[in-house]
Amino acid sequence: MKVLKFGGTSVANATNINLVKEIVAHSGSNKIVVVVSALGGITDLLLDAAHLASSQSEGYQSVFKEIEDRHLSTVKELININSQSKVLSKVKSELNSLETLLEGAFLIGEITPRLSDKIVSYGELLSSYIISEYFVESGLDCAYVDSRTLIKTDDHNEKASVNFKLTNQNCQEHFAEAKSTVSVMGGFIASSEKGNSTTLGRGGSDYTAAIVAAALDAAVLEIYTDVSGMYTANPKLVKQAKAIPHISYEEAMELSHFGAKVLYPPTIQPVLSKGISIHIKNTFEPNNAGTLITKNKNEKGKTVRGITHVGNMALLSLEGPGMVGIPGISKRFFEVLSQHDISVVFITQASSEHSICVGISANDIEKAVEIVNEAFEVEIERGKIKPAIAETELAIIALVGDNMKKHQGLSGKMFSTLGRNNVNIRAIAQGASERNISAVINEGDVKKALNALHEEFFEENVKQLNLFVMGVGNVGSKFLEQIRQQRSYLKEKLKLNIRVIGISNSRTMHFDENGISLSDWQNKLNSGEKANKSKFYEHVQKLNFRNSIFVDNTASSEVASTYSSYLGNSISVVTCNKIACSSEFDNYQNLKDLAREYNAPFLFETNVGAGLPIIDTLKHLIASGDKVLKIQAVLSGSLNFVFNNFNDQTTFHDIVKQAQEEGYTEPDPKIDLSGIDVMRKILILARESGNRLEIDDIKNNSFLPEESLNTDNNDDFFASLKKYESSFQEMFAKASAASSKLKYVAQYENGQASVGLQEIPKGHDFYNLEGSDNIVLFYTERYPNQPMIIKGAGAGADVTASGIFADIIRIGNF
Ligand code: ADP
Ligand code: ASP
Ligand code: MG
Repeated sequence: MKVLKFGGTSVANATNINLVKEIVAHSGSNKIVVVVSALGGITDLLLDAAHLASSQSEGYQSVFKEIEDRHLSTVKELININSQSKVLSKVKSELNSLETLLEGAFLIGEITPRLSDKIVSYGELLSSYIISEYFVESGLDCAYVDSRTLIKTDDHNEKASVNFKLTNQNCQEHFAEAKSTVSVMGGFIASSEKGNSTTLGRGGSDYTAAIVAAALDAAVLEIYTDVSGMYTANPKLVKQAKAIPHISYEEAMELSHFGAKVLYPPTIQPVLSKGISIHIKNTFEPNNAGTLITKNKNEKGKTVRGITHVGNMALLSLEGPGMVGIPGISKRFFEVLSQHDISVVFITQASSEHSICVGISANDIEKAVEIVNEAFEVEIERGKIKPAIAETELAIIALVGDNMKKHQGLSGKMFSTLGRNNVNIRAIAQGASERNISAVINEGDVKKALNALHEEFFEENVKQLNLFVMGVGNVGSKFLEQIRQQRSYLKEKLKLNIRVIGISNSRTMHFDENGISLSDWQNKLNSGEKANKSKFYEHVQKLNFRNSIFVDNTASSEVASTYSSYLGNSISVVTCNKIACSSEFDNYQNLKDLAREYNAPFLFETNVGAGLPIIDTLKHLIASGDKVLKIQAVLSGSLNFVFNNFNDQTTFHDIVKQAQEEGYTEPDPKIDLSGIDVMRKILILARESGNRLEIDDIKNNSFLPEESLNTDNNDDFFASLKKYESSFQEMFAKASAASSKLKYVAQYENGQASVGLQEIPKGHDFYNLEGSDNIVLFYTERYPNQPMIIKGAGAGADVTASGIFADIIRIGNF
């Protein structure tokens, strides 16, 4: 004997019902009980119709029509035209009775739980009848059973309690007599001893199947649904979730109790006592192994088996000085909730006894506040207790597993993961069974929390990084290309899964929650929506992805001014834009403080020396207790290019023009030649060394004539260079005469910083600097005479992009 249960999606339409028939036909048992749900979505529609009718809205009629159409079209598709009329007339007659009940509710403008159960029972009545007729027609030896004649309950409508004695007896007697191989019955529905229709609670078809399996000592209970088993987390919310191959009854019960909807929580109880295993399988992929639920089965070493959530929760708190030391307050509090059938899902009481806080369904919160305030009216009036406090839009998330109790540190890991992702925890409880740790969080954070926890506990440390990239010019597009090339390597070797979720340039922006294809991003971006920096931010915030990183590849001050919003929402910022770090010190400090407070790294390695690890090295020196005495550096790739190529055979004007054309300078070359860019860099190094410095504190010994500095467009600037050619030649001649080379040097010592052109003699570390290379000498307490030297290509889109990339990887390893 086998019991097979098929859920709503599995029987949603003719095509799916055909798959069900195939599974039943090949199930290899000579006695099979098939328990079916209503056609997917019908129970909701029936409840909608009942609700509309009882609130005297004529809208119930169109809902009824939809219910009618779904059933009639399923019959027409499934049943051969020759035998259709009998089935159609039975289905129509049942639908007529249903319509009469709805009309009744409409006329009296009221609905009782008993009438609601009666109405809702039509879902399973009709599905089981249609399916059994289809099985017969397909040649199966099949009989229809009205579940209400077998499953007996009390008359507690909407979630009745089963009378096991009667039910077991009914089932045993009925199936002892049953001759046919297959019996089809509806799940979820039952009847009271007086014969009224009752139901077993939403999702209750699983329970019906378990009751029948236990009554008949079935060999196995197979539950067919729309996913391949019980997963490590809801697969609809966590893509990386995996089916759990084998799990204990207790763990499965705990998972379902805390929200794994794939199994209705009471289902386990009847089969557990008989030791019947439950096999959860996928109707649409019946060859997948699914999940086997049996006694005491826990794979070795597994602590957390699953992560679940229950949504639509509310917290109800009672607090006040009058609660301390007065016995019986909790008793009265819980009593009044239970008297009104409000079930408490979650309890925390501070050890100070100053407050009690419980989690209940949000549907009950209004009523709960009212009855609790009423029950404590006297104390509230006397100011001993404050009126009850309600908080809504909450959810419970829970880690579940048998072996969790034997391991320390799991809750620490859980809460630090949530904290890192800016998920605010409202309350915490560790289940008395010690099989779960649960926390109450905002409903809007559920998806992020589940995914972050899943990553932490199940994904072999594969960490997903979600990038939002602003600016796709030279550097930005190289950066995207580098990610494209390295993605699979990073996933495999560094266990980092990098996804680009949003891209924007100054014209358009584009988002794809599943990750933008990096071979086709240009087209997607071109046809994207109009760019808008605050909308971009709002979108990132709304998506609320874990490990989100905002990447700024622009040189825009407007973009730099958005960093604080990102960091304040635990979104990391990586930037090659120097504006923020060289703005007022307070702004720079504020960004660093936000980064620390919200656990969101703020990295800007490329602000100095492009891809060279200058800032990171400096940070390590400082963190390990070293002190910077002096910094000497050549930090402008553009100026190096200019002074390495300028000589008495060329003109200064032509070399600057060439540098501009080859992309070695900013589009406005004056930013480089005036020394501003180098000032910003030495300012950032001075700040990172621990000094409070402003840009105006830096001395700029400019080599440009006053007139060139005062131009306000590129044409005038270049014209002035031409005009002063002789003074540039003079500088060159003077340096050559002293066997020196011209280098633009930045210096920092004793709290003072300066930038300017210097004649560097042979033998100096700067003398042989080639092309656009940068060099930094750090003189510190540990490197007082021989400085630590970092040298290499310090400009160019490729190396800058790889520097940004390196920052992203630092965050990945954070
Ligand atoms: P049926 O109608 O077949 O009874 P349900 O909708 O009641 O199906 O249950 C299956 C659904 O349960 C899945 O589609 C999935 O969205 C949800 N679910 C929630 N948590 C889990 C989990 N841990 N494992 C599998 N499914 C889950
Ligand atoms: N049809 C019922 C529901 O939707 C029972 C079930 O599907 O298990 O709740
Ligand atoms: Mg279900």
